[in-house]
Amino acid sequence: MNEKGYERDIAFVNKYDSLMSSKYEFSLYFIGLASCLGVHIMYFILFSKCGIKEMAYFNIGSVSFYALMLILVKFINNKSIIIYLSISEIIAHASAATIFVGWKPDFGMFLLMIIPLLFLMPTRITIVPFIFMFISIALYGALGFLCHDDRFVIHSLEHDKMGTTLYIINIVIGAFVLFYVTTIYTILNRYTQSKLRAQNEQLLVMATVDPLTQLHNRRAMGETLSKVSIESQESGEKYVLGIGDIDDFKQVNDTYGHDYGDSVLSAVASIISDNLPQGGYAARWGGEEFLFVLPASNLESGVRFADRIIESIRAYKFNKGDIEFGVTMTFGVSEGHPEDDIDRVLVNADKRLYHGKATGKNHTEFLD
Ligand code: GH3
Ligand code: MG
Ligand code: MG
Repeated sequence: MNEKGYERDIAFVNKYDSLMSSKYEFSLYFIGLASCLGVHIMYFILFSKCGIKEMAYFNIGSVSFYALMLILVKFINNKSIIIYLSISEIIAHASAATIFVGWKPDFGMFLLMIIPLLFLMPTRITIVPFIFMFISIALYGALGFLCHDDRFVIHSLEHDKMGTTLYIINIVIGAFVLFYVTTIYTILNRYTQSKLRAQNEQLLVMATVDPLTQLHNRRAMGETLSKVSIESQESGEKYVLGIGDIDDFKQVNDTYGHDYGDSVLSAVASIISDNLPQGGYAARWGGEEFLFVLPASNLESGVRFADRIIESIRAYKFNKGDIEFGVTMTFGVSEGHPEDDIDRVLVNADKRLYHGKATGKNHTEFLD
């Protein structure tokens, strides 16, 4: 993934996490419950106006229920209880309203519109939303069948202006419910995807980058070497690799402490990566060992690069308190040909390194 995409994902996840504080989560439930309360007050007024007493009483119950929920929402930790109680109220209200005033105002629509809401909230028992969904669909089918022609309807609004008014209101409310649910779903979906992508990226960095030197680690370099070898076979071009080891590093640790030894390692790593030619790779191969590989290159270029690093490191001065000191490094460099097994080239470079160690250190060894 590119850096911009990663930053965008992290920014979105952080923004969502900070917004999703308990205060914000509380306001999401509060707005939902308050909207339900407002809607049922409106239904109460409308049903009272057209004399449908049963539904007016029902809505007194609904208003009391949502008022109670608004008071309790702060104290109920398991918010899915609130969601399922509210959905039960919606199912009961939609069914009762259909039986009392008929199909025309389309209260039955809510039996289907609550379905996405059921699947928005993660539940510990996966089957629960499915049970609610099947009950809701069964009621929708049964009420549609029974109440279509008003035979079983108590106060039919089929030829009443109030039937049309309620129908329009219900469509608007239904559209709002769907919009609310799908917006939350879209945000949640993006959050999950962004978080997953960002975590994958972080895991990839953890798996491939050495935390102390920020160079590739041995594992990542192993993959790079296979890639370089395959590319060399395909292009017919040579490559060069070199292993460098800091001289007498144990002494540095013993004299200046392990922590200061770590700073020396990261300074050496910076010198290597700052000098690395375009297209080259460098890694921390072991404790104080570094490996570079230059694809489509040759021994001469590899030796030149190793010498440049050795010179830069030699010139670099470390300061620990009043003491100034320097370190040196030895490199073993070996050229690879398309037909070569890259592991053999590596072993060859390693042998040259140890020959270099045995012959005075602080130089590049490139001959057998
Ligand atoms: P030579 O010139 O032969 O390479 O001598 P040397 O002392 O560098 O070699 P040796 O292999 O004996 O010691 C390497 C030291 O590097 C020993 C080990 O404690 C140290 N070392 C390995 N990894 C780390 C690290 O991550 N941080 C620090 N500070 N030291 C490390
Ligand atoms: Mg060493
Ligand atoms: Mg070593």
